Amino acid sequence: NKILFNDRIIERENVIDIEDRGYQFGDGVYEVIGVYGGKMFMLDEHMERLKRSADEIQLKIPLIINDLKNKLRELVLINNLEEGIIYLQITRGVAPRWHTFPDETVSPVTIAYVRSLKRMTDLEKNGVSAILTEDIRWLRCDIKTLNLLPNVLSKQKAVENSAFEAIMHRKNIVTEASSSNVFIVKNEELFTHPANNFILNGITRKKVIQLCEELNLKVNEETFTVDTLLQADEVFITATKLDIIPVVKVNNQPIGTGKPGNVTKKILHKFQSLIQPATQT
Ligand code: PLP
Repeated sequence: NKILFNDRIIERENVIDIEDRGYQFGDGVYEVIGVYGGKMFMLDEHMERLKRSADEIQLKIPLIINDLKNKLRELVLINNLEEGIIYLQITRGVAPRWHTFPDETVSPVTIAYVRSLKRMTDLEKNGVSAILTEDIRWLRCDIKTLNLLPNVLSKQKAVENSAFEAIMHRKNIVTEASSSNVFIVKNEELFTHPANNFILNGITRKKVIQLCEELNLKVNEETFTVDTLLQADEVFITATKLDIIPVVKVNNQPIGTGKPGNVTKKILHKFQSLIQPATQT
């Protein structure tokens, strides 16, 4: 198993310093990129989001984006990855622990590795259950930072309640789930939280919105309440490698018929045609 460490592809070993700011402060940004049939899916969109996240925390990406893309391609090839993910993170680097940014001589640390992972076809077919939980995160959820403790706690709560995902809400407004975006379907129209500071603008979310346009399905990027979610005809979540997973139960209440709905299936079908065989690099 080989990893990308800064600008070198090396054997996986313990290269992380105990004073890496990612480790001590969660001071860094990351991306998870899906790999289908040996090809990275929507790589440019992931690179754009990475750049944006880095800019928002005033972190300068040490590699030129094109070089980074080439390194990631090399990483996929060298590890013979067919189906799975790339995890990529950039932290503000290694410096004596002190909250303020280190001086300019400290360069950010880039790490990427691959993991083989099959598509979750069972979940896709049968749907999952979710719980509702208060969104206790900060006000910049649009930045894909390493600070994921509230997400970790939410997902743990879901699993402890025999659910797959935790759908979060601020007061009465549904934002997103602990590691995915949320869509609902009502009378053949879709609703999802607008891409503002309260959610991470998912790459899969973006693709789904695009596919809906092609399918002549109306997507309203508008907020909706917990009650609206519970009374929806269909609910589904989207995320890299999860792709599109129907949510058939929320807080033990069935959604619609309690089975994956037709609109969800239609979008999923269209999505599958994009990745089998993989078309993007
Ligand atoms: N929302 C949160 C909080 C996430 O952590 C993720 C990613 O896992 C998503 C949404 C989905 O984003 P993407 O489709 O880019 O994977």
